[in-house]
Amino acid sequence: MGVKENITILRKEIPDTVKIVAVSKAMPVSLMMEAYNAGQRAFGENKVQEILSKVPQMPEDTEWHLIGHLQTNKVKSIVPVVHLIHSVDSLKLLAEINKESAKLNRVTNCLLQIRIAREETKFGLSRDEAKTLLASGQYREMKNVRIKGLMGMATFTEDECQIKSEFLDLFNFYNALKIALFKHDPAFSERSMGMSGDYKIALETGSTMVRIGSIIFGERNYNQ
Ligand SMILES: *Cc1c(COP(=O)(O)O)cnc(C)c1O
Repeated sequence: MGVKENITILRKEIPDTVKIVAVSKAMPVSLMMEAYNAGQRAFGENKVQEILSKVPQMPEDTEWHLIGHLQTNKVKSIVPVVHLIHSVDSLKLLAEINKESAKLNRVTNCLLQIRIAREETKFGLSRDEAKTLLASGQYREMKNVRIKGLMGMATFTEDECQIKSEFLDLFNFYNALKIALFKHDPAFSERSMGMSGDYKIALETGSTMVRIGSIIFGERNYNQ
């Protein structure tokens, strides 16, 4: 089946209120254009360089989502093109995004990446670290970033109960933050969770944004 059919099937399964981010890392622009022509606008990549090289090859209304780890020294180049950064994992990174966005007179949308997987993972904030980051209140002074919610990745496992419980952890943590700190901030509204293997579970546990690659584009040739 082609990209267009894959997207059509997914759209039937996923409520309109949940955004589909088509994860196009390691995929050629020709396949992305098939998705674009099927109406897909949001594309997710995990490398800044890959976004920058694809931007001139895709239509202007393509929405670029950075879902992979972001290094401080790459912030300057991604800020002008990115729609949403899913992977903010430190106050230092947030401050850098704010600084570079201010230079361009932009406000950059960000999610805090939270480590919910019980397996060892390199990136993301623990819930305590996220609380500390927010408790400092410094983010409130950063007028050129907008914290739109949280992103999380479940453990890579067949155990659906475990995946469900990890996604519920993210959902509960989101609700706690919403009540404690973002009650009067309608922008704080997103839970980016769910990939090809676990998006159905994510939909049951309050996801507002799924990041789906292989179901749309087929298997990637190398692991990313
Ligand atoms: C690669 C990737 C995805 C998509 O993975 P699939 O299993 O191909 O759907 C989603 N989120 C992140 C952060 C990724 O790196």
